Amino acid sequence: MTDRERIYADITAERESQDARWGNQTHSMPVWNAILAEECGEVAQAGLTVTFHGDTAEHLAHLREELIQVAAVAVHIIEKIDSGDWVRGV
Ligand SMILES: [Mg+2]
Repeated sequence: MTDRERIYADITAERESQDARWGNQTHSMPVWNAILAEECGEVAQAGLTVTFHGDTAEHLAHLREELIQVAAVAVHIIEKIDSGDWVRGV
């Protein structure tokens, strides 16, 4: 497995974990964007921890995990756009 294949496998596993945790989610695009922004905020926080508290294996693993979550939410939104399963308006 290449590095990229491993990353995509991790994103797929996170997507499946989200479905198992939350079930089918149908939101409006503003809500989806807020969910994605919240996850991006967690990436920013994890990045600051790496910067100001050290690039330890634990901190980098946490940053990587948060980035995988961002990618999985983005994939989820793309899936919703492609399927048309999203709430129009707010
Ligand atoms: Mg997160």
